[in-house]
Amino acid sequence: MAEPFPLEPSLWAATAPAPAPTPPLDESTAADVCVIGAGYAGLSTALHLAERGVKTVVLEAYEPGWGGSGRNGGQVIPGLKYDPDELVEKFPERGEELVAFAGGTADAVFDLIARHKMDVPHVRAGWIQGAHTPDAIEAVRRRAEQWAKRGAAAEFLDKAATERHLGTAQYDAGWLDRRGGAIQPLAYARGLARAALEAGAAIHGQSRVTALARNGGRFTVTTERGAAVTAEKVVVCTNGYTGDLVPKLRQTVIAPNSFQIATRPLSDNIRKSILPEGQVSSDIRKLLLYFRLDHAGRFIMGGRGPFREPESAADWAHLERVVGKMFPQLKGEPIEHRWCGRVALTRDFLPHLHEPEPGLLVDIGCMGRGVGLQTAMGQRMADYVATGDKRALPFPLVPIRPLPFHPLHKAYVSAIVAWHRMTDGGVKAAA
Ligand SMILES: Cc1cc2nc3c(=O)[nH]c(=O)nc-3n(C[C@H](O)[C@H](O)[C@H](O)COP(=O)(O)OP(=O)(O)OC[C@H]3O[C@@H](n4cnc5c(N)ncnc54)[C@H](O)[C@@H]3O)c2cc1C
Repeated sequence: MAEPFPLEPSLWAATAPAPAPTPPLDESTAADVCVIGAGYAGLSTALHLAERGVKTVVLEAYEPGWGGSGRNGGQVIPGLKYDPDELVEKFPERGEELVAFAGGTADAVFDLIARHKMDVPHVRAGWIQGAHTPDAIEAVRRRAEQWAKRGAAAEFLDKAATERHLGTAQYDAGWLDRRGGAIQPLAYARGLARAALEAGAAIHGQSRVTALARNGGRFTVTTERGAAVTAEKVVVCTNGYTGDLVPKLRQTVIAPNSFQIATRPLSDNIRKSILPEGQVSSDIRKLLLYFRLDHAGRFIMGGRGPFREPESAADWAHLERVVGKMFPQLKGEPIEHRWCGRVALTRDFLPHLHEPEPGLLVDIGCMGRGVGLQTAMGQRMADYVATGDKRALPFPLVPIRPLPFHPLHKAYVSAIVAWHRMTDGGVKAAA
C-alpha cells in the first residue's frame, strides 16, 4: 500500500493549538481496554471509558487526529446518508432509535467541546445541502420534511434562499439543518485527546500496532517498537487507514482520498459574499463538493480527487477550477493549503460494527461523514464495552464480509468517478 499523504500540509495542522504530549509506548503495560487508532472514534471511546473508571490505553501510529479526524472539512453534520424514513424501513425494530441517535450526533460534538472547555474554533449556524437537479430538489425537500416532522430545526430552501445563504447561484434549492455547524477538526481531535488524558486514559502516539493476538483470556497488542499492551478488551478504530491487523477487515471498505484546498483569509468584502450567516455546505452530488469559511475567513473547498495518493499540485487543480466557476469573486485567489485524507466507504453506505471474537470490537465505515457520527459512536462503544449491553450500540453487530474482488476496486472506483463526473451535472460557470 502507498504511504498515506501526511497531515502537515493541511490548513488544520497550520492553525491548531499544540497537542498534549502523547509519548510512544516504551514499556509493556496492562489495561482493561486497549483502543487502536486515535481519531474521533478511538478518542471518544477512550474518553468515555476513562470517565467510567475503566483503565484504557490508546495506541496510535502517528499522533491523535493524524487520520481523517485531523484533516476533514470540519462540517458537523447530523444524520446518516439515509433519510429517517429509509432508516426506519431498513431497521424495523429499532429504526426510530437509530434516527434519534443519528440526529443527535452534532449535539455530541458541541456538548463535548463545551463540557471540556476545549480550545476549538467552532460555530453552530447550521449545515446546508444544495441540490442541482429536479430529482435532487425533491430529495432535499423530503429530507427536510422528514427531519422537521421529528422535531429537528430543518427547513427547505428555494432557489433564492439557497443562493442568499451560500453566495452562489449554482444550486436550484437546498435544505438547512440548524443542528449542524463548523469546527476546526484537528483542534477538536486534540481537544478530545486532552480530555481523555485528563479523565485518566493513556495515549501513545508513534506506536503503530503490528500484531494483535489472544493469549488465554487476554489480548496482547504489540507495537512496532516491541512494547505491548495486554488487555481484556480491544476496540479497533482505524477506519480509512485500516491495515491487516484484523483479518479481512480492510477488504470490507474502499478508502479513497477526499481532497481539499484553502485560500488565505479573504478580504471583508469577499468574505461577506459567501456563506454570510456562517453555515457550512456540502451538496447532494454522488461526488459531492463541500465548502465553508474557517474561523479566520479562509475559503475551503473539498471534493473527490484521484484514487491514488497525490503527486503534485495538479491533483487539486480540478477543485481550483470549481471554485472559480462557483464563486467568480475568488478567481485568482491564491491557494495556500492543499491536502487530502482517506474516508472509508462500505457496500451498504452504513457504518459497520463487528465483533469477530468476544472482547474485540471494530468500528469502520464513516462514509465521509464522521465528525458527529464517530464522536457519538465512541460514546456508545464505551457504554457497550463497559457494560456488555448490546442495546448501547446504535447499529447491529455484523459479520466481516469482504467486498468481492476487492483488489480491483481501485480501477472500479476510478471508472465510477469518471462516470459520475460526466453524469453528476457539471458545475455551471456563474453568469
Ligand atoms: C478530507 C476529508 C474530509 C472530510 N470531511 C468531513 C466533514 O466535513 N464532515 C464530516 O462529518 N466528516 C468528514 N470526513 C470524515 C471524517 O473525517 C471521518 O469520518 C472521521 O474523522 C473518522 O474518524 P475515525 O476515528 O473513525 O478514523 P480516523 O480519524 O481516520 O483515525 C484512524 C486512526 O487510526 C490510526 N491507525 C491506523 N492503523 C493503525 C495501527 N495499526 N496502529 C495504530 N494506529 C493506527 C491512524 O493513524 C488514524 O489516526 C472527512 C474525511 C476526510 C478524509
